[in-house]
Amino acid sequence: MKAISTPSQPPRDVRDAEDLLDALQSAVASKTKIDLRGSGRHLQRGRPISADQVLSLAPMSGIVTYEPDELVLIAKAATPLRDILKTLDDAGQMLAFDPPLGHINPEEALGTLGGVMATNLAGPRRLVAGAARDYLLGFQAISGRGEQFQSGSRVMKNVTGYDLSKLMVGSYGTLAVMHEVTIKTMPKPEHGVSLIIKARDIEKAAAAMRDAFASPHEPTAGAIIPAQTSIYSKVKKIADMGQQSVLAAIRIEGFKVSVKDRVKALSDVLKPYGEQITLTEKESNLLQAELREVTLLPEQNNRVLWKVSCPPNQGAGLMKQILARPHCRAYADWAGGLIWVSHPAGHDGGAAPLRELLSATGGHATLVSAPQSMREAIDVFHPQPQALQDLTRRVKASFDPLGILNPGRMYEGI
Ligand SMILES: Cc1cc2nc3c(=O)[nH]c(=O)nc-3n(C[C@H](O)[C@H](O)[C@H](O)COP(=O)(O)OP(=O)(O)OC[C@H]3O[C@@H](n4cnc5c(N)ncnc54)[C@H](O)[C@@H]3O)c2cc1C
Repeated sequence: MKAISTPSQPPRDVRDAEDLLDALQSAVASKTKIDLRGSGRHLQRGRPISADQVLSLAPMSGIVTYEPDELVLIAKAATPLRDILKTLDDAGQMLAFDPPLGHINPEEALGTLGGVMATNLAGPRRLVAGAARDYLLGFQAISGRGEQFQSGSRVMKNVTGYDLSKLMVGSYGTLAVMHEVTIKTMPKPEHGVSLIIKARDIEKAAAAMRDAFASPHEPTAGAIIPAQTSIYSKVKKIADMGQQSVLAAIRIEGFKVSVKDRVKALSDVLKPYGEQITLTEKESNLLQAELREVTLLPEQNNRVLWKVSCPPNQGAGLMKQILARPHCRAYADWAGGLIWVSHPAGHDGGAAPLRELLSATGGHATLVSAPQSMREAIDVFHPQPQALQDLTRRVKASFDPLGILNPGRMYEGI
């Protein structure tokens, strides 16, 4: 493995699409390897890279068009999420995929729209609303060949050519640099609360979750929170109620009158699973933000953070096995489809045992937060099967044949 070196060239801030084109064409001509940054806030969370120059998109910020009636927003790629969220909120709308913001308070969200799309992040509403990928209508970009292109349009239905949006989202800036992004926005629900079930164990909490999502009462999010994790909640009822038990937290959203009726009906369905309380809207919003930002697993020295995706019906069993490992803490979101794991750092942060567990259930484990030395030494992204790895290499080679964009950000040599 090659040691990570510091960039040899001074950083460059790009002003606009033309400046970006010039920067990338120069990089192609001189084979300069680029470390691409929106606000740079996700960087200590991926695979470290060796690059010759840091290219910052930060000056390319601002909302270009927002048409609330059409549910469409177009923004320059480095527009901070806090500006996007404020604009949407003023019109009673939101980003339905609920991306992690790096902060409980949306006003402090400095990550960029391009960054969130490039990393395909989504929060607790992902289960019913979909991921960032499902909300990117189109974009304008410059590839690692130094060529301009665009994909998609202002509408979801778009049958011309390949759907490059699906490829770009989650590619961590390894294929092309987006400079303008078109997204679909959604109306904000009028009201939202959480029904909390105090279950005896993980199996009971998982069974309550299954019944809730199989019911006609349309929950929008569901988390399973073990006792050793709920104590970190700033929602006092959660911290108190979670002691010695496992909580199933089920979010219900919509018109106030409908929420009230559905919570009552769901509460009846879930009676057999244990004591219940309903959080107020304020408490429920705070809990959702804690789940989204993973603050229930505070970052600590000598611990690393994993994001484990698995089939939702395997989540409870998998979390139980993970919690049986020494000093592991965890909770499940997406009704069991996503498990956040805080693992003692040790020599590999638990990479081998976690991935071994996943070989039985299916799914993948991504190392989200760990010291640089560990992110250099082990696979940050789940190792791909050979056929998929070959495909990934071919896609990379067609967009960025010289490997100038974020070389090695996702996989060694790609
Ligand atoms: C557990 C967790 C913790 C988090 N903590 C924080 C936090 O502390 N602070 C915070 O602000 N956010 C945090 N986030 C949220 C998230 O990291 C950001 O909202 C978003 O990814 C970062 O945007 P950025 O512009 O800073 O991205 P960057 O860190 O600049 O970039 C992220 C990746 O996307 C690529 N990229 C960026 N812009 C583009 C583009 N226009 N075109 C193509 N590729 C691009 C970059 O090359 C890089 O590979 C966290 C998320 C999670 C899941």
